[in-house]
This record gives sequence, C-alpha cells and structure tokens, in this order.
Amino acid sequence: MLPMRLADGVYKVDGVRAANVYLVATDDGLLLVDTGMPGNAKLIVAFIESVGRRAADLRYIVLTHCDIDHIGSVAALKELTGAKVAIHELDGPILAGEQRPQKGGLAMAAFHRLLRPRTVAPDLLLKNGDTIGGLQVIHVPGHTAGSIVLRREDGVVFSGDALLSDKHGQVRWPAPRLALDRVQALASAERIKALPMKLLCPGHGAPVYM
Ligand SMILES: [Zn+2]
Repeated sequence: MLPMRLADGVYKVDGVRAANVYLVATDDGLLLVDTGMPGNAKLIVAFIESVGRRAADLRYIVLTHCDIDHIGSVAALKELTGAKVAIHELDGPILAGEQRPQKGGLAMAAFHRLLRPRTVAPDLLLKNGDTIGGLQVIHVPGHTAGSIVLRREDGVVFSGDALLSDKHGQVRWPAPRLALDRVQALASAERIKALPMKLLCPGHGAPVYM
C-alpha cells in the first residue's frame, strides 16, 4: 500500500490508532506532528522508511499538546531517531514530569497513571509566533494550557485537539468536557476556523480539504 500523502510533503502515518500522527517534509528535514499512544515508535520509524527516508532524517517531533494519546511514543521515538522534541512552554513541564496533568479531573489523571507515559525533557519550548521547520506556531489554549496549532504558509494546518473532524471529514468542535478551559477552547476553535486554510489535519478524525 502506498503511504497516505495528503499534500506536498505531508503524510498521515498509517496504522497509528487513537490519534493522528503526521509526517512533514520541510526544508529543514523531516518533522513529526504528535506521536500517538505508547507503543507506536517502531511503526512510525517504519513509516518514515516507507517514504524513502531514514530515522535519522527526523529533525523535530512537535507535540500539539501534552495529552497521553499525543505524547505517548515521544520518549521511544526520540531514542530511535535523535530528533529534537518541541512543545509549547506551558505544556512542557507536564511532558517533563515536573507538573501533573491539570485537566480532565480524576479520569484523565487515572488514565495517565495507568499508562505511565515516559517523561521527556523538551529540547525546545515554543511560544506563539515561533516558527519550527518552516511551520508557524499559533498558541490556542483551552484544550490544554499549552495547545498549539502549526500552520504552513500554503494553508496546511495541524490542529491537534483544538479543532477536530469526524471520520467523514466534517469539522467538529472540540468536546468541552475534555477541555481544561471550555470558554477558551471554543474561542480558540473559532480562531482556527477563521485561519486561511486549505487542508485541516486534526488530532482525531479524517483530514479535511477546505
Ligand atoms: Zn487527543
């Protein structure tokens, strides 16, 4: 099967369940958006090889936010590839294990305890307006304090859980009950929808051509 290419240099990594992982070819090497649940590192490396590149070509792993279904395989993947790990400065301490996940109440805390994602000290702490691998970082707080969107100049947008879609590619608002701050989460979703966008690559659901 051919790898799923969504746009020039943009792939959705096949076979990762529970959350979406995207591979982006940039002028600066390969960049990965999110890593899925724990246990996906080898599958992601195999995907990188399936598009004719090597594990060592992965330059950056950018995490849209600190939830386990997005950071689960980052520690193993960093070891396998040597990539630099980047996350927004407000979610960095949670990834590093210096702060407990702030949201979702007991259920999320129990989930994290049960699955124990390995902690990673981020190499790069991002803030609004930064650029990484040619992608613009936009801070969209609400789902978590440090949720970000990545936007390529041509209108490819990686939205993490700040704006979602369903399996048919209909844009979906993020579920308020999963947000750290519901009001902020909705305001952020509105801001993302208003961005000039040709392709939405959400953290869950099918990619959407706008
Ligand atoms: Zn998620």
